[in-house]
Amino acid sequence: MVEPQQLIRSFIRDLAPYIPGEQPAAANALKLNTNENPYPPAPEVLSAVRDCVDGRLRRYPSPTSAPLRKALAAYHGCAPENIIVGNGSDELLALAIRCFVTPISEASSSSGSVVQYFDPSYSLYPILSRIHHVRGNAVSLNPDFSIPDLQALQEDAAWDEDAALTFITTPNAPSARGYTTDQLRSICATLNGVVILDEAYADFAEENAAELGFTMPHVMVSRTFSKAFSLCYQRVGYFIGDPVLIGAMDKIRDSYNVNGLGQVAALETLRRLDYYQERIEWIQRERALLMEALEPLGFESLPSAANFVLTRPTRGAAKSWFDELRKREIYVRWFDHPRVRDYLRISIGSSDEMARLIAAMREIWESV
Ligand SMILES: *Cc1c(COP(=O)(O)O)cnc(C)c1O
Repeated sequence: MVEPQQLIRSFIRDLAPYIPGEQPAAANALKLNTNENPYPPAPEVLSAVRDCVDGRLRRYPSPTSAPLRKALAAYHGCAPENIIVGNGSDELLALAIRCFVTPISEASSSSGSVVQYFDPSYSLYPILSRIHHVRGNAVSLNPDFSIPDLQALQEDAAWDEDAALTFITTPNAPSARGYTTDQLRSICATLNGVVILDEAYADFAEENAAELGFTMPHVMVSRTFSKAFSLCYQRVGYFIGDPVLIGAMDKIRDSYNVNGLGQVAALETLRRLDYYQERIEWIQRERALLMEALEPLGFESLPSAANFVLTRPTRGAAKSWFDELRKREIYVRWFDHPRVRDYLRISIGSSDEMARLIAAMREIWESV
């Protein structure tokens, strides 16, 4: 008899998959663990989706997400050829590795098979590297989660200027720290491979680096409708970049990679930007209020340019706070990772949700 285990490629058999944040079942659960937007999509977005739920579902959607790419091009002031849309930006991150990084066994130089990223940053990158059987190269951020200055980077033996692909999460996750376009530009200028600026949270920041996707031919900028535009469920993300790199990725994507309802929702979202801008401002305000409320409880929060806060209790262990909150059906994120084990990552919710969180934290504070 064939043993199914033996049919699996050996590195996949041993692969530890990505662990998404918990999806609690309880109706009264307060979910502050995956950086979802607390507000629903604009009413017009919901009705646009509803309006196409009929017999047309039997048809394939636009294979190239053509209407959406056209609208995104108008939004960013570029051509549709500068844009590729994916089934969430996660799909495009994986596609970029397949497109630009050579598997270890075929590479003629070691850097040709290197995917480089900062540590800590989005924990999906090392896993995608393993899935595609290329080398992940983690380069340490400074203790305050800033990016080392150029000279320090160049002196760091781990830094590989020839890495086939470098991911920079900006604003950083899980720290929420923002980086300036000037610093990103100078780092990109020293790199000889492809650079992807993962701007999943850029809409919550003071500045973004979209221009680098147009001015530097080896730089692409990754955006998503998941976070600022309340569309996690629909899975729509996109890259902006040079038509040559975008075109290469376009060749290897699945023919109908973005579902039709997602395309419709994203397209309508771009017509309702005022609705989202207002809510982004509400989230920024709640972010400041949360940090203020946590301070008397002894929490030290990092500055945030995103819709979440990384904060460190000075009384009680972070894991105990996580467990105590969980007992109250409040779900935040705690990472069992050396650099962030002492912190909680809390997504910003509505003011009612933040009030419930803060009340629970005051109660826990009495007992730790
Ligand atoms: C949420 C997130 C993504 C993925 O977004 P999707 O478009 O939903 O796949 C990518 N990068 C970072 C850093 C994220 O936090």
